[in-house]
Amino acid sequence: MSEADRPEIAVIGGSGFYTFLEAPREVEVDTPYGKPSAPIAIGTVGGRTVAFLPRHGPRHDFPAHKVNYRANMWALRSLGVRQVLAPCAVGGLQVEYGPGTFLVPDQLVDRTTARIQTYYDAGACHISFADPYCSRLRGHLLDGLAGHDPVDGGTMVVIEGPRFSTRAESRWYAAQDWAVVGMTSHPEAVLARELALCYATIALVTDHDAGVDEASAVSVDAVFEVFAAHTDTLKSVLTGVVGELGERDCSCSHAVDGMDLPVTLP
Ligand SMILES: [Zn+2]
Repeated sequence: MSEADRPEIAVIGGSGFYTFLEAPREVEVDTPYGKPSAPIAIGTVGGRTVAFLPRHGPRHDFPAHKVNYRANMWALRSLGVRQVLAPCAVGGLQVEYGPGTFLVPDQLVDRTTARIQTYYDAGACHISFADPYCSRLRGHLLDGLAGHDPVDGGTMVVIEGPRFSTRAESRWYAAQDWAVVGMTSHPEAVLARELALCYATIALVTDHDAGVDEASAVSVDAVFEVFAAHTDTLKSVLTGVVGELGERDCSCSHAVDGMDLPVTLP
């Protein structure tokens, strides 16, 4: 792959978001952690070379708890990617965040229980994760969503899944003033940071979580239906954002500076 063809930007598609690029070429990538969810699609968007990876595989082969997050992020970085936009479907934990709400979280709470969340199994590699999302990319996403009344900030709690929350769990999350609940932003965000990538997400609310709407509970059909109804909007927003991304003047690229890393980054 020539230098000009190397993608510096990646989009990771969530549930129901399996394609993004027109006539892409596909690259099979292997990593020390296994294969990513799908071959990486590479094409041009907004004048930029962009990589696309459907997080769950092209046919949703990998549910959130089975996604090989380490392979996905490693594969993208090995192709040259340094900036990652990673939309995901979430449940709203507050009444005001109903289906169709676009929220760009600024904080994350990890409630997963069985996922490998690091590349570094030796040495003292403790990265800063106080602000889990790249503030520069967050700004770009909010600008791109300007016509869609986006919510700026909020905490995403990430649960292990694949089951949805109980009402008690959901009410507890809401009582912490957390905004949305999802299943994929962790460990994706922390692995991105360990690879010194910029990473941010658009959380698309597909339903109220179980503790918000006492009359109903989350159904997977509703999740996919609402996500599908907003996929075109999401794609068009991301297309605009990709064209606007500039130089990386944020701190993400220095996330592992000075650390004695037990692995060599690709
Ligand atoms: Zn950044």
